[in-house]
Amino acid sequence: MADIIQLLPDHVANQIAAGEVVQRPASVVKELVENAVDAGSTVIQLIIKGAGKTLIQVVDNGKGMSERDMLLSVQRHATSKIRTAEDLFQLHTKGFRGEALASIAAIAHLEISTREEDNEVGIQLKIEGSTINDPKPIACEKGTSIAVKNLFFNIPARRNFLKSDTVELRHIIDEFHRIALAHPDIHFDFFHNNSELFKLPPSNLRQRIVNVFGGKTNEKLVPIKEDTDVVKINGFISKPAFTKKTRGQQFFFVNNRFVKNSYLHHAVSSAFEGLLKPGHHPGYFIFLEVDPSSIDINIHPTKTEVKFDEDQAMYAILRSTVKHSLGQFNVAPVLDFDRDSNLDTPYSYKTKLPKQPGVEVDADFNPFKEEGKGGVRVASKPYLKADRVEASWESLYVSVDSSENFKTVSIESESTANELFTEEETDISPTTYQLHKKYIVTTIKSGMVIINQHRAHQRVLYEQYLKNITVDTGSSQQLLFPLTLEFSTTEMELLKTIKDSLERTGFVFSEMTENEVQLSGMPLNVSESEVGGIIDQLLADLQQEIPESSLSQSDVLAKAMCRTLAVKSGAHLNTAAQESLVNNLFATKEPMVSPFQKPIFITMSLEELDKRFL
Ligand code: ADP
Ligand code: MG
Repeated sequence: MADIIQLLPDHVANQIAAGEVVQRPASVVKELVENAVDAGSTVIQLIIKGAGKTLIQVVDNGKGMSERDMLLSVQRHATSKIRTAEDLFQLHTKGFRGEALASIAAIAHLEISTREEDNEVGIQLKIEGSTINDPKPIACEKGTSIAVKNLFFNIPARRNFLKSDTVELRHIIDEFHRIALAHPDIHFDFFHNNSELFKLPPSNLRQRIVNVFGGKTNEKLVPIKEDTDVVKINGFISKPAFTKKTRGQQFFFVNNRFVKNSYLHHAVSSAFEGLLKPGHHPGYFIFLEVDPSSIDINIHPTKTEVKFDEDQAMYAILRSTVKHSLGQFNVAPVLDFDRDSNLDTPYSYKTKLPKQPGVEVDADFNPFKEEGKGGVRVASKPYLKADRVEASWESLYVSVDSSENFKTVSIESESTANELFTEEETDISPTTYQLHKKYIVTTIKSGMVIINQHRAHQRVLYEQYLKNITVDTGSSQQLLFPLTLEFSTTEMELLKTIKDSLERTGFVFSEMTENEVQLSGMPLNVSESEVGGIIDQLLADLQQEIPESSLSQSDVLAKAMCRTLAVKSGAHLNTAAQESLVNNLFATKEPMVSPFQKPIFITMSLEELDKRFL
């Protein structure tokens, strides 16, 4: 038989390799910025257009390249960073594979301009597909500028696979954060579509974190430090009182390289155990320094995984270091008036074994009760008219009954509630019964229904919010004093994209600055103390679910709001509230399943009941 195996031509091999290295614009950003760091730059500019689909350019003031090096740099396995296999175990650079530029050149238009300090003129190289133009002399600053245009121009499938600009930009910002945090001594500028997203002057780590995540981050940080033979630990953790519902601010750096490691993450989380509000995640910026030969960073092509020789020791050291800092912060609360009293008990957890953090439910939580502090109500549920405590002083909405605009579920229910129940059924005197503060039991013609109160309310609120967002705007209550909420740049970017939808549910944004949002109004059935939590939850969900269209964005938004605002299991509902909930549930479009595809109720027919008594 004839031989059939052939060596792949270079450009095909490069395209295949590119599949591994370049998944999306953010991967290109990572490679280019890391190269700039490796080149010893002190100032690095990142210029992005169209979320990286149109242009990704990195300009640095590093050591530049000679003409020969520039031509070699775009060849596969061409690197100046390692020479022998042994070098792999003593890595001090970000790159070492020598395939980034070759891969990028295979799937995008590339333009490299570079000048070494000793040369008076620079040189420029353009590569467009398989055409490599001859290098040309060019006047440029010392350093290197690499521009990547029309990403995936020759692989339409990959280009089409890219997500919306919002999502791609978020990935780019994530990569940028990782590198900027690892190198506080380097000046970074980041422009997107001609507006400056970040300007980070050289500083210490703490200032860098604050510059990246916004002014108020400073007070949230607790330093951690530990020197052992196995590892040196440095960095910051967030105070438990400031933890967030988003997992955004969790960073491990091993020898200054961002890594993901669920084992280490667990070590930190377990140190926080018992100190976090349910559903909250600790924030951390932790730098680990280990002997390069004791780790293997080579196990993943994009190099964010890491394996340690002594991972159990690492776990123990890291966990106790974090605990120690939390404890120290507790015993020395200098000028820290906002100290969380939760922190007064960390030592009782000392002997506990690490445990996967789970969701805790506060069985005594009653959203209909007034909260002690300042008379702010924890929640005001719209269908609870009977139970209603009159609006607190900060809510200026007009009297519930006289307002035409007041479209809450309780009003709607009066007109639509009875659809499912025939005349005959409503004849039966309405009997609902709450079982263990969790289920509502009620009769129907054929027998009985047992309703999960939390899911039922989720369904009701979900449809209400979806309608608000897509069809008619919900009413809002004005705040006497605008509420200021603080967010990171990433969160602000995200928030801007959902601002319109949020406004239709009743939020009123009076001001949006770089890191702050001022709210002058919010949806009727939301209380002030819930707002921060809702928006946090929302951003967390959006970051996870990465909605594509505006339709699914509305969906994520409505889901996040109903998840936060629905009555929980464990909440006592009076008869009026129970009935209202039942009526509203059966007036929804899909009373059977919750917005999260869980069954809302089960029925039991008289026949079934009869059978059981046979
Ligand atoms: P690697 O970073 O793994 O070596 P790359 O494909 O990213 O591989 O880069 C290839 C080579 O090109 C690098 O080893 C380096 O010598 C050179 N190079 C790339 N970017 C720059 C830059 N911004 N400044 C100076 N040299 C660079
Ligand atoms: Mg590189």
